[in-house]
Amino acid sequence: MIEPVLALRPRPLLAALSLLLFSAAAAAQSGPAPVRFLLTFDDGPAAAVNDNPTVHILEVLAHNQHQDHIKAVFFTQTRAWHGGGTEMGRWLIRREYAEGHVIGLHTATPLHSNHRFMSRETLDATMQLGVDDLKAETGVAPKLVRPPFWAYDADTLASYHAHGLHMLLTDLNANDGKIYGINFSWHKRSNMLKHLAETRKRWAAGDMPSVDGYTPVVVTFHDVNTYTSSHIEEYLDILLDVARELNVPLADKPFYDNHDELERAALAATINSTDVKPRLPGLWNWLWQ
Ligand SMILES: [Zn+2]
Repeated sequence: MIEPVLALRPRPLLAALSLLLFSAAAAAQSGPAPVRFLLTFDDGPAAAVNDNPTVHILEVLAHNQHQDHIKAVFFTQTRAWHGGGTEMGRWLIRREYAEGHVIGLHTATPLHSNHRFMSRETLDATMQLGVDDLKAETGVAPKLVRPPFWAYDADTLASYHAHGLHMLLTDLNANDGKIYGINFSWHKRSNMLKHLAETRKRWAAGDMPSVDGYTPVVVTFHDVNTYTSSHIEEYLDILLDVARELNVPLADKPFYDNHDELERAALAATINSTDVKPRLPGLWNWLWQ
């Protein structure tokens, strides 16, 4: 009974060769995980009853020429007088959640107020309001927060954490926020190319988290922006195009399309300490750090 087993044992040279081939294959697979774009939308929902930009974005995410049923993270302003604080706004938050998107918190103040300029007491109160507002609409507490103007410090983070919130910044930024005083960009592609080229360096160095076999690359838009809304399909195209140009390997499905997977990826990309100094796109580093 022993002999057949011995006969199956590979000769030393063959064993060494197969080990070498196996190691080479393993090395080829051990590079950074392919990229998946994690789309996020700030400042919404919009309140318009007709031609609502948030509604249009939801429709394009659900059906477009690249990938149907894309899921995104919406960083909502639950008490915005012209948005989330209206009947239409609340209905849209429920719709976003019902369609499988992840609902995060941006503000729970009538205006787009800077969390860093609030006392800890005021910030705690507004975080609690926001968590309660979202729980009332979706039935679940939000896990993600994004600070207005990307502005945070140790106190801000402590308040977020005390309310079960984790802070997600961004890798790519469409620079479409209305705070610039413009709501369009002639430089959509060159801007995304620049931000992805920066991100690619961190990806290649293995400095980005990988979750479920993918590297989430966070992209920020503003769903209240009518220009963004009417160009969102073009933006999806641009993301795929600049990834090709920069030789960034993408997942078979380059955008997240599952709520739980999306939330796991977003949580893995959060910043939980002021010791970490993430690069913010554009002028924001210069402004806050
Ligand atoms: Zn904002």
